[in-house]
Amino acid sequence: MSLVEKDQKYIWHPFTQMKTAGPALPIVKGEGTLLIDDKGNSYIDAISSWWVNLHGHSHPYIAEKVYEQMLQLEHVVFAGFTHTPAVELCEKLSKHLPSNQAKFFFSGDGSSAVEIALKMSVQYWKNKGESKTRFVALDGAYHGETFGAMSAGARSIFSAPFTDLLFESFHIPFPKDEQAAIESLKTELAKGDVAAFIFEPLIQGAAGMRMYKPEILNKLMLICKEAGVLCIADEVMTGFGRTGTTFAVNQVEAQPDFICMSKGLSGGTLPLSLTTCTNAIYDAFLGDDIQKAFLHGHSFTGNPIGCVAAIASLELLEKEECQEAMKNIAARHKVFAEQIKTLDVIKDIRQTGTVIAIELKADSSGYASTIRQQLYQDFLSQGVLLRPLGNVIYILPPYCITEQELTKVYEVIEAKLKQLC
Ligand SMILES: *Cc1c(COP(=O)(O)O)cnc(C)c1O
Repeated sequence: MSLVEKDQKYIWHPFTQMKTAGPALPIVKGEGTLLIDDKGNSYIDAISSWWVNLHGHSHPYIAEKVYEQMLQLEHVVFAGFTHTPAVELCEKLSKHLPSNQAKFFFSGDGSSAVEIALKMSVQYWKNKGESKTRFVALDGAYHGETFGAMSAGARSIFSAPFTDLLFESFHIPFPKDEQAAIESLKTELAKGDVAAFIFEPLIQGAAGMRMYKPEILNKLMLICKEAGVLCIADEVMTGFGRTGTTFAVNQVEAQPDFICMSKGLSGGTLPLSLTTCTNAIYDAFLGDDIQKAFLHGHSFTGNPIGCVAAIASLELLEKEECQEAMKNIAARHKVFAEQIKTLDVIKDIRQTGTVIAIELKADSSGYASTIRQQLYQDFLSQGVLLRPLGNVIYILPPYCITEQELTKVYEVIEAKLKQLC
């Protein structure tokens, strides 16, 4: 049996329509921005393997640090124990975070980081003797796959089978319409039972790379502050430079109470996530009463190997070279947008930092859109991995993408757009 046949026998892949999806593509090596298959074909990973990769695949510096740590200490229960990689990572990260972020809680994936922020917000109010249990989010929000994260997110085809089991949350209009978003938020907060406002700052990823300005986010956060409602910044996708700053909230004056991060945290190498919060949150859990403690922990919480990968990735991110590369990607996206903006098939082009999205007029939007499958296959056959979200083609590259590789990605997209005209 070939690898693909065995794969089809055993493996249940995410996001595939069981019957119509083609066989999975065996990848044998990753190097820089390239993924290489078993026949020697290479693909430019223009979506950073689902938004996780920062510095290219199998980066030797990260690999070395991981290997060394493996031989030193692979894992230890994190309840009551600690180690240098965890402490060093938090110390290094805190330099990039809003000044109010003081405490770091580890978990293993973005959905868990969000669950933790949601649970902490509800318990924070409970510990203070208040019953605030509802969440406000943005229309189109995506916060992860677990029940709490799904409940906070917008209802979609992903959550549809579980609708009856989701807790209710309120979704204000997407802040493209500033006034509508503000009014809706104020009305909802006035009800007095909202624990927290959760948002993907500046870019909504899964909704189709929908973007909004820091100024409006600032206004929404200030409204929450005034109403005494906690703010949760879900930076699982936007973190680690995607929006042009290390975190998207670095562009906003108001400071969130929680920040969730994962994906790029380990440079896309190992599952790791963090929920950070303020001392004010932490203090509400402090005391002698076990009922006030946050009784939540995952088996692999604080995994030292993940932590050293994250430290190594952060070191690479901080380098002048990488910061320049991020600026260069943003500048080239801008030029590309100018170059194609008059093409008739385009409904909207938007860009924030290193992420550019091209929304097509063609077909209905949404994940089930038929055009996305065609586009995906077409780009892949030309050696470029792009995974359109419905009718939105986006580029979210590792920062190490070369000039030539980026040019190729643009060329493949532009040719396709012209063909669609
Ligand atoms: C991917 C993502 C998540 C979920 O992270 P997982 O690691 O896939 O569980 C949550 N929020 C946002 C904004 C994301 O993009």
